[in-house]
Amino acid sequence: MNVAVIGGGAAGFFSAINVKENYPDAQVVIFEKTRHPLAKVKISGGGRCNVTNGNTAISELASAYPRGKSFMKQALRIFNTKHTMEWFESRGVPLLVQDDMRVFPVSQNSDSIVNCLQEQSEALGIISEYWSGIQAISTNGEQLDLIFSRVDLAPRTFDKVIVASGGSPRYEGLEWLEKLGHGIVKPVPSLFTFNMPSESIVELTGVSVDPVMVSVPGSKLKSRGPLLITHWGFSGPAILKLSAFGARFLNEKNYRFDVRINWLDQINHEIVLKQLNDMAEEHPRKLLSNIRPPGLPDRLWRYLLHKSELPLTRKWGELGNRGLNKLVAILTNDTYSVLGKTGFKEEFVTCGGVALDSIDAKSMQSKSCKNLYFAGEILDIDGITGGYNFQAAWTTAFIAAKLN
Ligand SMILES: Cc1cc2nc3c(=O)[nH]c(=O)nc-3n(C[C@H](O)[C@H](O)[C@H](O)COP(=O)(O)OP(=O)(O)OC[C@H]3O[C@@H](n4cnc5c(N)ncnc54)[C@H](O)[C@@H]3O)c2cc1C
Repeated sequence: MNVAVIGGGAAGFFSAINVKENYPDAQVVIFEKTRHPLAKVKISGGGRCNVTNGNTAISELASAYPRGKSFMKQALRIFNTKHTMEWFESRGVPLLVQDDMRVFPVSQNSDSIVNCLQEQSEALGIISEYWSGIQAISTNGEQLDLIFSRVDLAPRTFDKVIVASGGSPRYEGLEWLEKLGHGIVKPVPSLFTFNMPSESIVELTGVSVDPVMVSVPGSKLKSRGPLLITHWGFSGPAILKLSAFGARFLNEKNYRFDVRINWLDQINHEIVLKQLNDMAEEHPRKLLSNIRPPGLPDRLWRYLLHKSELPLTRKWGELGNRGLNKLVAILTNDTYSVLGKTGFKEEFVTCGGVALDSIDAKSMQSKSCKNLYFAGEILDIDGITGGYNFQAAWTTAFIAAKLN
C-alpha cells in the first residue's frame, strides 16, 4: 500500500508516523509545499509550543472547540490529551503541566516537539518531499491521483491520501477540495484581540484584571477570565475566548462592535450595591481614591472614577445613592467601542474549512471520496487558546492514520 500525506505540519507528521506504525509495510510520503516542515510548531506558543492541555475530562475538552464540539467529543474518546502526553513522553519528550493547565515540553523549547516528530518520521523511513505543493486530487478507480503545482512534477497515484494542509485564510484555497464533493465553510480568523483606537483606557496599558466578565451587547456572546489592557485595546484569555466563540458574528460586524466589561465579575447588581454601601459605611471619611473594591488595580479604579465623573477627592460617605448607582453602573456595565482586530501573535487559527458533515468522525474518511482522509486545521474545527488546536491536530491525525 502506498500512502500520501499532503502537508508537513503537525497533523501531517503525526498522521504519517501513525500510518507507518499501523502499517509497517506501507510506503508513506509527506508532500510539503514549502521547504520548512513543522513551521507552525516551531513558532507556536511563543517558541515554547503549547502542545496540549492538562485537562483530561472529555466533555470539558470538547467545550473548548467553538467549531467542532460534538465531532471532537466523539474523536477525543479515541485519542485525547492524556494520549498525547503519553505519546510524547514515551518518545523522550518530558512535558510539564502548568498551573493554567497548558502543557509545554520541559525544555520550554518547541524544538523538542519538532525534533521528536522529525526523528520518529526518519526512523520509520517516511519520505518527505519539499517544494511539492498539491494543486488537485482526482479519482482513478479506487486510487487517487495527486497533481502538483509545479509543472515539472508528474502526477502520482496513491492507494490512500490524507489531506493535512492546514487552515486556509481564503475560500479559493479550499476549492480543490470542494471539487471532490466536500462542503466548505467560509474561512474567517479566530483568536484575535480588540482594537479600540478611540478609547482612552488604552493609556492603562499593562493593567490586567482577573477575572472579568466580557460580553457583546445584542448577542449571546459572553466570556469570563483574565483581561489585559494593551496600547491598542483589550487582550487576554477572556477576550481571546470571546473572539473564538464570536469569530463569525464579529466578522459579519466587520469587527466594529461594542464590548461590555463587568469588572467585578458579578452580575447581581444588588450584591455590588451592597458591597459598595458596606465600603461607604465602613470608611465614610476616606477618599474614593484611597479605598477601592478588592481585585481592581489602582490605575483602573482611578480611570473608572474619572469616567463616571466622580472626583477622586470625594469621600465615600458623601457618595449618596446617585454616586453609588453610578459606580455600580461603571463596575458592571462598562462599555467600549471596538473598531478592528489584531491577530494574537502567540496563536491564531482559522474558523471554517472542510465541513464536518462531509467527513466520517470515526475514521476521518471523506464521505464523498473513498480512500481520502482529513486531519488538522483544514477541517472546520478550531479551539480556544490552551493547546486545544494542536490537540485537534493530534486527535484527527491519529484517527485518520488508521485508514479505516
Ligand atoms: C503563531 C502561532 C502560534 C500557535 N501556537 C499554538 C500553540 O501553542 N498551541 C496550539 O494548540 N496551537 C497553536 N497554534 C495553532 C496550531 O499551530 C495549528 O492549529 C496547527 O499547526 C495546525 O496543524 P496542521 O498540521 O493542521 O496545519 P499546519 O501546521 O498549518 O500545516 C499545514 C502544512 O501544509 C502545508 N501545505 C498547505 N497546502 C499544501 C498543499 N496544497 N500541498 C502541500 N503542502 C501544503 C503548509 O505549508 C504547512 O506546512 C498556533 C498558530 C500560530 C499561527
